[in-house]
Amino acid sequence: MTSTTPQSAQAGGPALPQERRVVTAIPGPKSQELHARKLASVADGVGNVLPVYVQRAGGGVVEDVDGNSLIDFGSGIAVTSVGNSAEAVVRRAAEQLADYTHTCFMVTPYEPYIAVAEALAELTPGDHAKKSALFNSGAEAVENAVKIARAYTKRQAVVVFDHGYHGRTNLTMALTSKNMPYKHGFGPFAPEVYRVPVAYPYRWPTGPENCAEEAAAQAIDQISKQVGAENVAAIVIEPVLGEGGFIEPAKGFLPRIAQFARDHGIVFVADEIQAGFCRTGQWFASEDEGLVPDLITTAKGIAGGLPLAAVTGRAEIMDAAHSGGLGGTYGGNPVACAAALGAIETMRELDLCARAKRIEEVMKPRLAKIAENQPAIGDIRGRGAMIAIELVKPGTKEPDAELTAKLARACHQAGLLILTTGTYGNVVRFLPPLVIGEDLLNEGLDVLESAFAELA
Ligand code: PMP
Repeated sequence: MTSTTPQSAQAGGPALPQERRVVTAIPGPKSQELHARKLASVADGVGNVLPVYVQRAGGGVVEDVDGNSLIDFGSGIAVTSVGNSAEAVVRRAAEQLADYTHTCFMVTPYEPYIAVAEALAELTPGDHAKKSALFNSGAEAVENAVKIARAYTKRQAVVVFDHGYHGRTNLTMALTSKNMPYKHGFGPFAPEVYRVPVAYPYRWPTGPENCAEEAAAQAIDQISKQVGAENVAAIVIEPVLGEGGFIEPAKGFLPRIAQFARDHGIVFVADEIQAGFCRTGQWFASEDEGLVPDLITTAKGIAGGLPLAAVTGRAEIMDAAHSGGLGGTYGGNPVACAAALGAIETMRELDLCARAKRIEEVMKPRLAKIAENQPAIGDIRGRGAMIAIELVKPGTKEPDAELTAKLARACHQAGLLILTTGTYGNVVRFLPPLVIGEDLLNEGLDVLESAFAELA
């Protein structure tokens, strides 16, 4: 990895300087002006992490309208893994834009949709026959995975997990665990959704070594006794839980749950919307424990920033829904499909799975070093370029959401864009674009270290 973004990943036009540059207060005057317009015209329910308005973005930086250049440790929430406006994404999407923008795949179909479905069949785990259906957003993909599983099994119940996040539509709010801000005041929620424990090693009452076995036993017991395995259509889980706090279920938990699903004819759905597409150092996070999910939901990283999502899985399950039962006006839009083919080309050409692993190699030891002086860092976890620290009151495991918010603010002020997450709001997550230069990655960590020191 070099200090600048590889040329092959950058779009045409003058290359965006790969540097941190803070030339005004954050947010600057032009951003503040735009923000006043935003507050007057955009619904309050649509919040912002940082009201800095974007001018350009690429490689490992986001440049704002005031001329500040922020190091990007967020990738628009794990989307621009190939970098913003990556060359192959722009080229392919632009060619597609010039040819046709939309016909509706359900009316008169087109080749890019099929090429994406073929790529998904090739890249997702398992060598069985697979099919896909394309959608616009992650939530839509998860909803459709549930529809398909219900059509296939002719059962209704859906099992999800503590700390899980699956979206903001009515069904996916029901599947999501955290009340504020995702669900509060928006009920009633869809029925036949059951939540069971997940193996969260850091917070498992009897310790991480017992976590996988005990959590799996509890989850399976609850499903069996409270729902009845024979009533369950789908078990839906993120192989690394994103909005819940980058929780990696203790090793052994996921295979045990997948085996239970197999034994009882339940469709096992891996929600790889945040963790997929090289983010964790594999094409899909499921691969780390050799999981072969029946269905996989993808979105975010799939198309380099254009809205596209997919459900991919066993052909016989995917074919269970009747013709016309799946789809939507825009699902698998040709420009988004072309962008996805460009993103996948970039991931392959630049071996972005290897880059994600390298990002972990750089970040984990540096975070461990910072933690030596920062007793608030209770846990460092994650893999590839999906890394997090969980902040607690020193000497306890009491979540410190206030420090987390202060730390994020201090980093933003210094030109580092970081995001927080977690059920308790006490996790700082790092999701840099996989094409970020190593110098910039280290500089971002310097900023984080200084912000910690200032706050201590
Ligand atoms: N599932 C997971 C695991 C996610 O991380 C997200 C988005 N954060 C979603 C589903 C919903 O995706 P979208 O916002 O595109 O609807």
